Amino acid sequence: MMAAPPIRAVRSLVDIAPTIAELLSIPLPGADGVAIPELTDCLQRCDRTVLVIVDSLGYFTYHRLQPYMPHIRGTVIGCRAVADHTTPAIASILTGCRPDTHRIFTTADVHTSPIKSILELAEESGIRSALVIEREGARAMKTKIDLVAGVDDSRDILDYDTKIKERTIELLKHEPVLMVVHFRAIDRYAHEARSFDELAYAAERIDNHLCEICRNLSRSTCVIVCGDHPIHGTCIEGDQDVALIVLDR
Ligand SMILES: [Zn+2]
Repeated sequence: MMAAPPIRAVRSLVDIAPTIAELLSIPLPGADGVAIPELTDCLQRCDRTVLVIVDSLGYFTYHRLQPYMPHIRGTVIGCRAVADHTTPAIASILTGCRPDTHRIFTTADVHTSPIKSILELAEESGIRSALVIEREGARAMKTKIDLVAGVDDSRDILDYDTKIKERTIELLKHEPVLMVVHFRAIDRYAHEARSFDELAYAAERIDNHLCEICRNLSRSTCVIVCGDHPIHGTCIEGDQDVALIVLDR
């Protein structure tokens, strides 16, 4: 008799924070998500984590762009999206809560939401955390964690992502245990209805940035890449879930 195929559980973006929390022993009370066992099992030996959020990296989009991102490969998991837009989606990634729980829909809501992000909870338990993100988001988080770098929004989104990489490498000198970084070029190009080739170029640039960041990491640092929502626009159609990749290093 043939064995039944394994049942693949559907994961969600709200499972990322509980997974990191378990890896780094950060208390995360009240999360809607649960740790992803196939990740906690394979990452047991890691003592630091860098989470790279690639805006608009949907699951199908990742597979279309993967040939242009040779360093972003490893264990790939499809996750259900929780929001169409960046701010609530990133809040879900960082809190492990769905938007109806964290109620963060704009940057201003970061100040009023009673739900703490995994970065704040890490700091509270003496685990150094760092964030590199757009200037306004950085300002909102500055009161909550020590190592925050902001990059001014720019019409030149490739230059913006380069600055994100540079600030990331600077903050890594402080040896954070948990670091979160946000790249935006793919999302901007999708909104501008650029060609597939241009989208692929944006992906290639992000792959280069990530490669350079990895050169500044210890072997025991795990690198997790995820999208925040499926891609918008018509450059790549039929994108539904979000990609989550644990890099092979
Ligand atoms: Zn986004």
